[in-house]
Amino acid sequence: MGKAWKESQVMPVYEYMCSHCSISYPISRGIEEEEAEYSCDSCGDKLYRKFHVGGVQFNGGGFYSTDKG
Ligand SMILES: [Zn+2]
Repeated sequence: MGKAWKESQVMPVYEYMCSHCSISYPISRGIEEEEAEYSCDSCGDKLYRKFHVGGVQFNGGGFYSTDKG
């Protein structure tokens, strides 16, 4: 039995929301991947990203993560 995933490729999960349906979509995306736009499965509207308290925070032009490990 091998490992199902590589430890060096942890995918952070971002939560996106549809403002029309109030549906949240957890989306995993690689850190090195550029930010993409996602559409609601229900109405097709563009999703916006929620900010996680205590998670990844944006500060000015850069960003940093408070999560360690
Ligand atoms: Zn929607």
